Amino acid sequence: MADIIQLLPDHVANQIAAGEVVQRPSSVVKELLENAIDAEATIIKLIIKDAGKTLVQVIDNGKGMSTTDARLSFERHATSKIRTADDLFQLHTKGFRGEALASIAAIAHVELKTKQEHDDVGNAIIIEGSTIVSQDVVVTPKGTSISVKNLFFNIPARRNFLKSNAVELRHIIDEFHRVALAHPNISFSFYNNGSDVFNLPTGNYRQRIVAIFGSKTNEKLVPVEETTEVLKIAGFVCKPEFSKKTRGEQYFFVNDRFIKSGYLNHAISSAFDGLLKSGLYPSYFLYLTVNPQTIDINIHPTKTEIKFDDEHTLYALLRSAVKHSLGQFNIAPVLDFERDPNLDTPYDYNKIEANNPVIEVDRSFNPFKETYNSGKQTTAFKTQTLTNWDSLYVGLESKGNDFRKEFSEVHFESEESTESIFGTTSQAEYVQTTYQLHNKYIVSTIKSGMLILDQYRAHQRILYEDFLKCMTIKEGMSQQLLFPLELHFSTTDIEIIKQLKQDLEHAGFVFSNIHNEIVEIMGLPVNIPEQDVRNILEYLISDVENEVPNSNFSATDLLAKSMAKSLAIKRGQSLKKDEQEHLVNSLFACKEPNVSPNNKVTFITMSVDELDKKFI
Ligand code: ADP
Ligand code: MG
Repeated sequence: MADIIQLLPDHVANQIAAGEVVQRPSSVVKELLENAIDAEATIIKLIIKDAGKTLVQVIDNGKGMSTTDARLSFERHATSKIRTADDLFQLHTKGFRGEALASIAAIAHVELKTKQEHDDVGNAIIIEGSTIVSQDVVVTPKGTSISVKNLFFNIPARRNFLKSNAVELRHIIDEFHRVALAHPNISFSFYNNGSDVFNLPTGNYRQRIVAIFGSKTNEKLVPVEETTEVLKIAGFVCKPEFSKKTRGEQYFFVNDRFIKSGYLNHAISSAFDGLLKSGLYPSYFLYLTVNPQTIDINIHPTKTEIKFDDEHTLYALLRSAVKHSLGQFNIAPVLDFERDPNLDTPYDYNKIEANNPVIEVDRSFNPFKETYNSGKQTTAFKTQTLTNWDSLYVGLESKGNDFRKEFSEVHFESEESTESIFGTTSQAEYVQTTYQLHNKYIVSTIKSGMLILDQYRAHQRILYEDFLKCMTIKEGMSQQLLFPLELHFSTTDIEIIKQLKQDLEHAGFVFSNIHNEIVEIMGLPVNIPEQDVRNILEYLISDVENEVPNSNFSATDLLAKSMAKSLAIKRGQSLKKDEQEHLVNSLFACKEPNVSPNNKVTFITMSVDELDKKFI
């Protein structure tokens, strides 16, 4: 029989390797920045266009490449960084696989310019889809500039798979942070579509963190310092009171390389035990230095995972170092046997100053109540919530002023969805009764048996459809604020908000200014209460970070989801009979009552037949 095994042509092998190395524009950013660092650059400039889809360029002042090396750098497994397998255990560089440039050149248009210090002229190479288009001598400063254009130009499926610019930019900023945080002794600048996003002068760790995350970060940092035989720990944790509801800033570096480790993350979380309310995450920037022989970073192609020889010791050391710092800075409660503990103020009271009384929204208020003036709530709450909930319906005013009343009277009007469940029987034939279970579920009778709905998810669905309707029908309806709202965000968040600006305006936000670390808002969508804006924007940013699985990312949709999530009645809240009924009825007036905005089941049914079977 004829031989059937063939070696893949190089360009095909390269494309396959590229799939591992280059998932998205941010992977290119990571590889190029790391190469610049390995080349001992002290100034690195990152330039991107269209979130890296059109251009990623890195310019460094490092050692450059010779004519031969410049050409060789695009060959697979061509690296100057290791020579033997043993070198893998002595790694002091970021790269070592010699795959990145070959992979990138296989799926993009790449231009390289490079010159070594003592050469008069440098080399320029243009390579497209692994094919060298030209190689010339050029006049260029010392160092290397690599431009990667039209990523995935020859793999349309991959190109189409890329997410919106907001999401891709977010990934790029993440990579940039990771590299810039690890190397405060290198000056970095970052330009997106011609405007500068970051300009980071050299400094120490603290200065770098503050330069990236904003001046307010400085007061949040508690230093962590520990030197033992096996490892050195430096860096900061953030004071517990600044912990975030979303994952927050969690950075681990091992020998200047960003790594992810659930195990070590756990060590830190456990050091915060008792200091954080549940649902909050600590922020930290920790730099570990260990002997390269005791770690293996070769286990993952993108190299963010690492294997330690002695994880348990590391865990214990890290945990105790963080605990120690929190205690030293008077953040953890102190044990003092001489003192009457009753006289101690809780640790987080130390810094609290008396505030002016503020009006709060009564979260327990329920919009489905038909009689608003039942007189049971305090006046402050009543007026506040009334305006809020009123505003919820403003967008739907086209239906007439007593829309709310009308809404409350929608009894199974949306026939398609309700008929199947409730049957066509007139209401006279059966009486709908509801019952609330554990302040969480509403049980309701239906013709065929019963239905149990999850109050939180159901209300999210109702609000979500309302919000979407408001935003799409009465596009951009906004309420002018008496005083502009000024919110502080980190530079990164600001960049994301800038990306989403148009969509947010579409939804009714009016921005007077977005700059440095401040967002100034003049108007809000009619249905957003002013005090929830910050939360809503934070959720939105974190949803962009997490890319919200199953969504095709529309800012309007995300916004509606975020708002529904923040404003829906939560589990644990008791509802009156008429409120329960209203919830059930409103849910079935929705277009998609079966699932929450995040595609989770909102209700289940059980027929009398099924019940009968259980009683056999
Ligand atoms: P690796 O970094 O794993 O060695 P790469 O494909 O990223 O593999 O790079 C191949 C080689 O090209 C490197 O080993 C290095 O010698 C050279 N190189 C890449 N980028 C630069 C740069 N910015 N400055 C100097 N040399 C570089
Ligand atoms: Mg490399």
